Amino acid sequence: MGTVAVRIVNGYKSFAGRRTPVLQGVDLDIATGEFLVVLGSSGSGKSTLLRIVAGLDHLDRGAIDWPDSDDDTRPHTGVVFQQPFLMPWLTVRENIAFGGRFAVHRERFDTAYADELLDRFGLSSLGGYYPEQLSGGQAQRIAVIRAVAVRPRLLLLDEPFSALDPATRGDLQSWLADLARDLGFTTVLVTHDIDEALRLGDRIALFGRGGTVRQQWQIGDLEDGHRDGLRTDILAHYRDSSLSTT
Ligand code: ADP
Ligand code: MG
Repeated sequence: MGTVAVRIVNGYKSFAGRRTPVLQGVDLDIATGEFLVVLGSSGSGKSTLLRIVAGLDHLDRGAIDWPDSDDDTRPHTGVVFQQPFLMPWLTVRENIAFGGRFAVHRERFDTAYADELLDRFGLSSLGGYYPEQLSGGQAQRIAVIRAVAVRPRLLLLDEPFSALDPATRGDLQSWLADLARDLGFTTVLVTHDIDEALRLGDRIALFGRGGTVRQQWQIGDLEDGHRDGLRTDILAHYRDSSLSTT
């Protein structure tokens, strides 16, 4: 058993004006170095959970801890959203360097490493381009590189490929799998896409409308033959958890 990067214990979150809590009774350990996919239908609380892990929001009750951090604080974290949010007036290289200007990142950013990442992940030819010259897929790759250029130990992605066409999405999934394996940080990706979850996750945690973890599956190095059966199983639970409280 490896170490635990993120531990959520009995997490509870509600928003004013909502009848039911967004998250309740959430118990979730994320192992250091694993690729966890949080799967769930729209409105199941995935983005809220990710924002809490990112430190952009907080739990009302329960706890989030960082057992693997020496001082029990959040490890250095990179976040990628559905939209790339690149600054239109900066080139790709300048956009990536922009993250390094924030005080929390300054010590962890250097241009040589950013250039090495662009090169290693097949993007060095785009360095001088402006965002409007990029395709959607290219822009989202740059958003990922910007997030990892500050050497995070935890990478969080909220439906990063859902605005892309299916072919581009497939390319980016493979690309991200290689990148996460290569750079070796803890990764949490939120999606409503079962095939994306199966393709990328070491483990899948299914969220339902009640705001809880409904079911978890360890994927690891599952052989393709077993993947179809697992897909059927996940789909059945997915349907069930989407319908049960509506
Ligand atoms: P998901 O990412 O799984 O689609 P979200 O975490 O975005 O789900 O949202 C879960 C529920 O909480 C939704 O019904 C959403 O409308 C509601 N919600 C999210 N953020 C807020 C907020 N800041 N204020 C009020 N309601 C919110
Ligand atoms: Mg969401």
